[in-house]
Amino acid sequence: MNTTTSTKNGQKLNGFSIEDIGDDHLFTSLETPMKPNAFEMSNDEKKQRISILFSEIMDVLGLDLKDDSLQGTPDRVAKMYVEEIFSGLDPNNKPKVALFDNKYQYNQMLVEKNITFYSNCEHHFVPIIGKAHIAYKSSGKVIGLSKLNRIVQYYAKRPQVQERLTQQIANELKTVLETDDVAVIIDAKHLCVSSRGVKDDTSATVTTYYGGIFNTPEKIVELQNYINN
Ligand SMILES: [Zn+2]
Repeated sequence: MNTTTSTKNGQKLNGFSIEDIGDDHLFTSLETPMKPNAFEMSNDEKKQRISILFSEIMDVLGLDLKDDSLQGTPDRVAKMYVEEIFSGLDPNNKPKVALFDNKYQYNQMLVEKNITFYSNCEHHFVPIIGKAHIAYKSSGKVIGLSKLNRIVQYYAKRPQVQERLTQQIANELKTVLETDDVAVIIDAKHLCVSSRGVKDDTSATVTTYYGGIFNTPEKIVELQNYINN
């Protein structure tokens, strides 16, 4: 396992306050932290509750919920959270992947680059916008290209931390493709960094996972060449 990042890594939690953890985007586990009873409530119940709670937030902020433009917002936000931007929390939405045996592609490397995704930072609940690049060497099994995209989108549709997103995509690919020869590179912009806090509008964060044969300096250079061209 060798997830690296150009910003922080998970080892620095000790001695940091909850505030530091959030603003520095440190993360605590590779699994998305979920309550054991996360799915006791139905999606309809979740939408109803979120709508009530979100209208409360708007009300506290002093917004007039009787205004025609604002009236529908709590319902819209609730629907968007449950059905769209956080739908990847629900394992029922995990893409079903059919594997094909293809002996002609045995040992071939496949690179799928520039998979655009939209996620949300779990520390600030504002967007992370980025591109994922995926590579694998076939163990004789191949999956449809659109499935690579769907796997990225599924894990992106959660409150996320970029390192975890990288790792979760890599783990899923390793399981599905039955090989350790998997690489995931994510280049993303965090709106919580650019639009608030330090207001750095130009930085981007790159996280990488190089598994199996990809974890050599030569392969890493080869991959970078594919991605940059
Ligand atoms: Zn953030």
